[in-house]
Amino acid sequence: MKTYTPFISGCVLEWDGETIDSVDPAIGSVWSKVAQCSPDIADMAMQDADRAFRQGAWADADAAARADILDRLADALEARWEELVESEVRDNGKRITEVRGQFAGLHSWYRHFANEARKLAPEAQAVSIPGVTSVGHWLPYGVVVAITPWNSPLMILAWKLAPALAAGNTVVVKPSEMATASTVEFARLAHEAGLPAGVLNVVTGLGHEVGEALVRHPLTRKVTFTGSDFGGRKVAEAAARGVVPTTLELGGKSAQVVFADCDIDNTVNGVLSGIFLSNGQTCVAGSRLIVEASVKDVLVDRILTRARNLRMGDPMDPATQVAPLANAAHLRKVTAMIEQAKAEGAICLLDGTETAAGQEGFYVGPTVFDLVTPAMQLWREEVFGPVLAVTSFDTEQDATALANDSDYGLAGGVWTTDAAKGARVAAAINSGTVYINHYRSVDPCCPIGGIKMSGYGRELGPDAVKDFLQSKSIWTGAIAVPDPFP
Ligand code: NAD
Repeated sequence: MKTYTPFISGCVLEWDGETIDSVDPAIGSVWSKVAQCSPDIADMAMQDADRAFRQGAWADADAAARADILDRLADALEARWEELVESEVRDNGKRITEVRGQFAGLHSWYRHFANEARKLAPEAQAVSIPGVTSVGHWLPYGVVVAITPWNSPLMILAWKLAPALAAGNTVVVKPSEMATASTVEFARLAHEAGLPAGVLNVVTGLGHEVGEALVRHPLTRKVTFTGSDFGGRKVAEAAARGVVPTTLELGGKSAQVVFADCDIDNTVNGVLSGIFLSNGQTCVAGSRLIVEASVKDVLVDRILTRARNLRMGDPMDPATQVAPLANAAHLRKVTAMIEQAKAEGAICLLDGTETAAGQEGFYVGPTVFDLVTPAMQLWREEVFGPVLAVTSFDTEQDATALANDSDYGLAGGVWTTDAAKGARVAAAINSGTVYINHYRSVDPCCPIGGIKMSGYGRELGPDAVKDFLQSKSIWTGAIAVPDPFP
């Protein structure tokens, strides 16, 4: 059985130490092992990444030269992405159709940020003091620690790695212990494509052990984290001790606000994709359906009809529509939240624990609850599973108040054919992203990120590369310095 081990200084590390079982969620049995690194290995990776940074071949290279290497990495990904698919499906159980979709486009994130790097140049600053000029230069931080979750390991890594490398940093990645394989395979591919040794290192193992050791390491200059709000808080606390800037992409409890004048076919598809793609294991999952009372029965019936008929099965089968949850602990959490919603009085219209009964592996089917109130756990906490909480409203003011009654603020959706109302409600929803008559798109030109418990900082967008750079102003005097104490 294969063991996925750290990738440091351009090499896969030989391993005879402790390992973590990686369980295939479709069958519930171990398919590979992951090296359980100690803080000593984290230190080795950090020292090596720091050496690669200081040695200068990457950080001091012309941005265009770095961009050329990122383009070669993109070429390799475009040619070889299929090699990475199976390990990610076996690790996290995501449907092969979704993984293939993400991986076929992986190269484009690297190409986009390679091009952004080519545009970097010192900027003259319009100072108002006569006789002096100032020029702003962009400096990479040094070693960036990138910590990723299990739901979309390589896509989320691309959002961090492409701009961080384009900016001239070196990066140490800590993938989730639940889905490590594709990141180790990717690092090897990137090195073969020309990424110099030490510019990208991967440390495998547990978050509270090596993840925290990396964040606390004295050579860490910036941290970018995607994961739960619990993990995010731990990372932010540890990073604060070293005064290390941090970007946190955390969870969500996003609202889909549906008005009676919506295009119903479009809305049904948007709500279904919002909550049931990836079996609800997406940060932007539209998990709270806030629907105008007059259209609720029609909309909910349409959603139930589609959800009941989705095909549950093997994630490796392209015909599968409902794949397993990623791991046994997560299955227990989602099941417990469904039971808690019933206990608190929400009305279960479709119970995915029943439709998944008898299924081998970690399956829960689409689940829909009605009459969910803001006091209930199902309204307030992220399930990160296929569970839709429904409630109704009568006025636009009620709709936005319900949408904003959340500790999270990652995304939201508005469904209406009234453009002015759509714009009004989108402006009123308190979150980092709102989609009108549309849901869950991402693009390198558009920043993503949350407010409140959904985190801080943004990924992607026009400032993504600059987020991995520090500005430095160099002033030049062109006149005699006056005597300060005449
Ligand atoms: P998690 O917080 O358990 O783990 C995420 C990563 O952090 C893993 O690599 C883990 O090993 C590491 N980690 C955990 N504790 C740590 C610590 N104390 N110090 C350092 N590293 C630590 O999250 P998960 O269960 O892997 O992912 C699911 C969560 O991620 C959900 O809440 C989801 O909403 C969120 N998510 C957010 C986005 C976004 O863009 N906002 C995208 C995907 C997932």
